[in-house]
Amino acid sequence: MKTQDIVKLIESVKNLDIKSYSRLKDEIEKRDSIKFVSYLLNNDNNEKTCPYCKSRHLYKWGVRNDLQRYKCKNCTKTFNILTGTPLANLHKKGRWLTYAQCIIEGLSIRKAASKCGVHRNTSFRWRHRFLQNSGYIKPDKLSGIVEVNELIFARSEKGNKKLKRKPRKKGYKSVKHIPIKNRVFTLFCRDRGKNTFDGILNKFSADNLKSDLSLITKDTLLCSHNKAVYLKYTKENSVRHGILNISKGESVKKDVVHIKNVLVYQLDLQMWMVRFRGVATKYLHNYLSWYREMDEFDFKITSETVLLRAMRPERYNTNHFR
Ligand SMILES: [Zn+2]
Repeated sequence: MKTQDIVKLIESVKNLDIKSYSRLKDEIEKRDSIKFVSYLLNNDNNEKTCPYCKSRHLYKWGVRNDLQRYKCKNCTKTFNILTGTPLANLHKKGRWLTYAQCIIEGLSIRKAASKCGVHRNTSFRWRHRFLQNSGYIKPDKLSGIVEVNELIFARSEKGNKKLKRKPRKKGYKSVKHIPIKNRVFTLFCRDRGKNTFDGILNKFSADNLKSDLSLITKDTLLCSHNKAVYLKYTKENSVRHGILNISKGESVKKDVVHIKNVLVYQLDLQMWMVRFRGVATKYLHNYLSWYREMDEFDFKITSETVLLRAMRPERYNTNHFR
């Protein structure tokens, strides 16, 4: 744009009424934000690979919609930085950072929609796309003293428009009131370095624990209460076991054997989840991952980090859980 045209534009802005000025300001902020988000995505330091053949040999292949495009030397396909990631084909990039902030604040779908000026269906879609990668980012191993405890959620079909049963008027009073077939078992392991591992179990059994606890190292001391499932698992797999007889009021043994950290984690998670007024079981793993991610950063994660973690391709360890 020529200098004289910019001067003319600035002059015309001075004559705008408040309503028009406000519209113009919104538009500039939106564009600024799109540019900033695109800058962040284009300059992510993560190694770039072809989403089709995983080759690292790429050409730069122009820019479209502010995003750098690449061409693969191996398979000759073209793509941009978002191709093959959970954020592919989502619109309104300019509002993604605000949405990432809503994730940090733990806002409900409707509140996040209102804050970002998008429809609630968009907010719902964004939430689960933004959280998709969180499930894959888990610690590779837990070591030292590891506390383990299960947590039961009631199976929920929230959002399902074709219920096969009559809708319940009220939730269950306590876990004991949940019928066994409606129980969803989740497992939480936390070592003393605050690394946490969570997952949804198909069945609460020693065999299931064996595959799900494969990330604990051999020298681990596993602390749990004295449920038969843990006793059987530790015996069959020669894992050192710190057993607490909680029904007899035993909460600490030899100063180090306790499960206080994992219990606090579970309690904080449950308190945090109250705001969502129940979550559908099919999305439960996303909420567990969401909370774990916030905890990993001590709830001081930035919206830029949330965005970059959301867009990184699914190249993380998927051996454990879902
Ligand atoms: Zn390729």
